[in-house]
Amino acid sequence: MENATPIAAEPSFYFDNSYARMLEGLYVPGRPAQVVEPVLIKYNRALSDALGLDTQALDSPLGAAIFSGNHVPIGATPIAQAYAGHQFGGFSPQLGDGRALLLGEVIDRAGKRHDLALKGSGRTPFSRGGDGKAALGPVLREYLMGEAMHALGIPTTRALAAVTTGESVHRETGALPGAVLTRAASSHIRVGTFQFFAARGDIDNLRRLADYTIARHDPEIKEAPNPYLSLLRAVAERQAVLIARWMNVGFIHGVMNTDNMTVSGETIDYGPCAFMDQYDPATVFSSIDLQGRYAYANQPLIARWNLARLAEALLPLMTNAPERAVALATEVLDEFPIHYERNWLAGMRRKLGLQAQRTDDLALATDFLKTLASRQVDFTLAFDYLADETQVPHQTASRLQALHPTVNDAPTAPPMDAWLSRWRARSALEGRSPLAQTAAMREANPVYIPRNHLVEEALDAATQQGDMRPFERLLDVVKQPFGKRDGLERYALPGTTEQTAGYKTFCGT
Ligand code: AMP
Ligand code: MG
Repeated sequence: MENATPIAAEPSFYFDNSYARMLEGLYVPGRPAQVVEPVLIKYNRALSDALGLDTQALDSPLGAAIFSGNHVPIGATPIAQAYAGHQFGGFSPQLGDGRALLLGEVIDRAGKRHDLALKGSGRTPFSRGGDGKAALGPVLREYLMGEAMHALGIPTTRALAAVTTGESVHRETGALPGAVLTRAASSHIRVGTFQFFAARGDIDNLRRLADYTIARHDPEIKEAPNPYLSLLRAVAERQAVLIARWMNVGFIHGVMNTDNMTVSGETIDYGPCAFMDQYDPATVFSSIDLQGRYAYANQPLIARWNLARLAEALLPLMTNAPERAVALATEVLDEFPIHYERNWLAGMRRKLGLQAQRTDDLALATDFLKTLASRQVDFTLAFDYLADETQVPHQTASRLQALHPTVNDAPTAPPMDAWLSRWRARSALEGRSPLAQTAAMREANPVYIPRNHLVEEALDAATQQGDMRPFERLLDVVKQPFGKRDGLERYALPGTTEQTAGYKTFCGT
């Protein structure tokens, strides 16, 4: 095959594949499938530079060959990682990389280690009935969402490249253009990775994995009195931060199975995820989440549930006395809601333009959300309008009203004006100028999130017409989420009622 011919000038990746080297038995070696006609349709040059890769050499047909899987670069050791997972509450003892391969780990200029993995690179021993492939739409969605989250300052895995394969993949909806995503991550170690070995009673490999994870992500706890308990605590603290940040921006992951939760604290596996438009804690977008298990408001509870599964997996390592181990782990799990709320409230204070910590702040924040919920107003715009309020007082209520004129008149809605008076009084205690408060709020509240109707529009154009322009424009916009820019008004607005009502997302990567 033409594309599989040897490469003249091989760019160096400086791979150092510790997982493959140190954790034999926790993965199976793999080989990416060859594709017919690889075309590099997106290359993340900024990320490539940050990873210390040869951007110039890779943003090319050579990059297409590498990031499609047609050419395995020197130094890569492609492997499919084993993992298990609770999916919608039910345990699957064997999931694993069924359509992904870890190419290897690269060390950036700052010495930080990053996994580079292909997604959609063909079947592996973990594929079960699947074809191991990915479709273009979900690949672009993951690319866009990851970049948006990164720009919002939220820990996330990121896309390095998207390649179309020239092949079709077959899904329920019919034939779709095929694609491969290259993903960079602090690691791909998941809660489910621990569950895989714990469920088999394979304590040796469980301990090897835990020791490896500690060395990679939490080297400082190696000498702790109980390193495995400390690992649980470290993961729980990172997840408390992560979920709080999701909640602060209205992000709904959609499929928080334990195999989709990293121990690094990075967001991973952007499937049916979406940002909430109108504020409603019960919002669910995923078409398969019929019970609303992964609804917006459930995310902190699910995170804790998933951490309890991690705790169970780690118990055999903690002490020889099972009851003692359970008591120690329970303590950590019980701290999670406290850490989560502290992080969430810190985020809400920033969003509300408040610096000091006062006891009434929790009620102030939750009451604001209650007034939004009762009016079904747009979550993102509400904070943007509130920031304007310090400059042009008495605008917020009427502007929010204009978004949903019919609902706003509901007599049951708690009055916005009363809340605004409380917020003004609270703001006055800060002793900083309204101008400074507005500036701080502009830094905390994004103007541009990936609006659902715009994401669909961009993905439709790319997958149906081969037109990448709407995707490129939207990507550019969400990469700078803070501060209004001229000419981008449409990107700051929610969709029409027809576009937002009943919006559904689908997995099918
Ligand atoms: P997800 O829900 O997308 O995180 O995937 C859950 C599991 O299904 C993982 O083990 C995936 O590797 C596997 N999987 C998903 N799609 C495919 C596919 N097209 N082919 C093979 N395995 C897949
Ligand atoms: Mg997954």
